[in-house]
Amino acid sequence: MTPSQIVSYLDLHVVGQEEAKRQLAVAVYTHYRKIELATPDKTEIVKSNVLLIGPTGTGKTLLCETLSRVLQVPFVMANATSLAQSEYVNQEIEAILQRLIDKAEGDVGQAQRGIVFIDEIDKLKDLGSQHGQARGTSGEGVQHALLKIMEGAPVSIKGERYIDTTQVLFICGGAFVGIDEILAKTRNFGFIATSEDDNPKLLDRLNARVKPTDLFEYGLIQEFAGRLPIVAHLKPLSREMMVRIMTEPENSIYRQYRQILQRDGVELTIDPLVFGQIADLAMEYRVGARSLRGIFEEMLTPAMYLVPDHPEVRQVRIDSLFENPRFIGSRPAA
Ligand code: ADP
Repeated sequence: MTPSQIVSYLDLHVVGQEEAKRQLAVAVYTHYRKIELATPDKTEIVKSNVLLIGPTGTGKTLLCETLSRVLQVPFVMANATSLAQSEYVNQEIEAILQRLIDKAEGDVGQAQRGIVFIDEIDKLKDLGSQHGQARGTSGEGVQHALLKIMEGAPVSIKGERYIDTTQVLFICGGAFVGIDEILAKTRNFGFIATSEDDNPKLLDRLNARVKPTDLFEYGLIQEFAGRLPIVAHLKPLSREMMVRIMTEPENSIYRQYRQILQRDGVELTIDPLVFGQIADLAMEYRVGARSLRGIFEEMLTPAMYLVPDHPEVRQVRIDSLFENPRFIGSRPAA
């Protein structure tokens, strides 16, 4: 698949985040090309792992998951904070790779081409031995342990078999709160594009690039940051994007609920205004699209409760978030 085909597929499931989609698509395309081009006698692959920066609930995990689906490679996710809480970080990492093999249904070869997503990589600062926490691994310790597998070494799983991580693509994610301020400070002023420039966009992009030094403040050590040369930014979700997330993707919440009710012979209709109201509420919760499902479930609970017992109901209408659902058919008043 070409990068643009990958992006088209991502578009079916992930709303917005165009820039990040392109960067990821090019990154995975290049990654798998490098694997193809590697010959047995010249196996060295210079891997470009990816760092996804963006607020919580904006689609980082969803992007990685969708990517693995389109590429038909196994996918697992892990959390850097929980790695740091473990005394035996190497075992935890082994367990991640074991899950990757499980996802590949035991096919180690397939697992070796998988994608591992490690979230909360920005939370490693001061983690571990601090806070009177006797157990656990320091943030630095976690990074050293991760570096080993990111660089690609044969890792023994339960002393039984080996998985070579050379071709595994690692994507790290984190919110990196405040990164924009750091970027503004460390910007290379001598290199700023003027509006008359022929190619201001490239210069702007180079200027906006996250440098490994920008990541020090989040506890990332130089070697680790250096292993993440591709940095993609996800944008905070706007109200309009929230509305699209509820309605547009192939498996959007709206479609899911419509399908569930359809099985009971009921048509669910939600006034467009309601999506706006839900989006407003979700914006206040500040956890990206994460809160949408909860609001949706709450809103539909009365309908989900009543409908299965009332075959005469043909339609459920929601006209406003401030009113109960309307049941059309000859439903008894409730
Ligand atoms: P994070 O950025 O924290 O990894 P997730 O990808 O886990 O966020 O998203 C949380 C929830 O919100 C998921 O259910 C996902 O489907 C939805 N979501 C978040 N962003 C988007 C988006 N851009 N497009 C579609 N759904 C999204």
